[in-house]
Amino acid sequence: MSTKDYLEKDYYAVLGVPKTATADEIKKAYRKLARQYHPDTNQGDSVKEAKFKEISEANDILSDTKRRKEYDEARTLFGSGVGGQRPGGGGFPFDFGDLFGGTAGQQGGGSGGAGERLGDLFGGLFNRGGSSTGRTSSTTRPRRGQDIESEVTLTFTEAVEGSTVSLRLTSSAACKSCTGTGAKAGTTPRVCPTCEGTGAASRNLGNFAFSEPCRDCKGRGLIVDDPCPDCDGSGRAKSTRTIQARIPAGVGDGQRVKLKAKGAPGENGGPAGDLYIVTHVKAHAVFGRTGDNLTITVPVTFSEAALGAEIKVPILKGLPVTLRIPAGTPNGRTFRVRGRGVTRKDGTKGDLLASVEVLVPETLDEKSRDLLTEFSTATAGDDPRAELIQRARSE
Ligand SMILES: [Zn+2]
Ligand SMILES: [Zn+2]
Repeated sequence: MSTKDYLEKDYYAVLGVPKTATADEIKKAYRKLARQYHPDTNQGDSVKEAKFKEISEANDILSDTKRRKEYDEARTLFGSGVGGQRPGGGGFPFDFGDLFGGTAGQQGGGSGGAGERLGDLFGGLFNRGGSSTGRTSSTTRPRRGQDIESEVTLTFTEAVEGSTVSLRLTSSAACKSCTGTGAKAGTTPRVCPTCEGTGAASRNLGNFAFSEPCRDCKGRGLIVDDPCPDCDGSGRAKSTRTIQARIPAGVGDGQRVKLKAKGAPGENGGPAGDLYIVTHVKAHAVFGRTGDNLTITVPVTFSEAALGAEIKVPILKGLPVTLRIPAGTPNGRTFRVRGRGVTRKDGTKGDLLASVEVLVPETLDEKSRDLLTEFSTATAGDDPRAELIQRARSE
């Protein structure tokens, strides 16, 4: 099927159905006409044979949702025929916004940007039937939205517990002033007179004819005379929206969180892009983190460490828990408080790792000094450095 066919032939008229006909109505109309003009029943009648071909062709296009859409768009864009009325002067009933929205993310510079997109469109429309431009239809089929990357700063607790954050996202959308055409308000792109909107020019080389992009419109089929001042003719503008994003529990500093389908909306019914959020996590005054575990350093007195004790240990959220440390606990020993760490993906939790730090009293009252002196006398026989000195000598 060639572009020329698209523009010259009124397939609706061929089948005798209105433009608004449903798929069912098209099917019925085709069947009825096909029976009437079928070559088997009209042998040798070349007029009826040609008519049958025309009916089949019309049905091929109109019964295929995608091709019917392309056909409708091509005809809307160019009026009712190549030689006839052109849409340049009057209204331009084609929604460029829809058309070009699909290229969100490509920030075209200058009018060339819009041109590329127009080229895309026309490449798609005019490529049917094997023209050699090598493009495929990409503007009308469903298109996935753009992936967006953003970042967020969380408190330590928000990162551990999960959090819902408000994000302002900026992505590219059709310029509102020109609805994506790239042409100044009140003007419309006009069909390129050189190639009559096909975007292609043929060149003869001896026995071969080559098709190449039209030089005057650079293959886009349209010419923008007055570029839109708001987008410099690119047809693109920034659009900003605010979304609520759920950051899952347990994210770390510098992690890249993927939120499926939270990126730019898709075009033509395509799925939305993904949103990637890089998380920055503020340090906590008390807690640290190693993977799924929270860490904390808990001060204990010499007597608590020596005699054993039940001590209160703070947790990230909720009342402190009681931790029993045994008699003779050395400085720096780490105790595990189960289930008080970071929430994992599967909902289970890591642990809280509490390391004890034995404190030496800076000042002593008289009674304490007396008691410690007594303790010192009682343990005078134990030299904690005896082994050290022995080992130092033996080397
Ligand atoms: Zn604009
Ligand atoms: Zn041209």
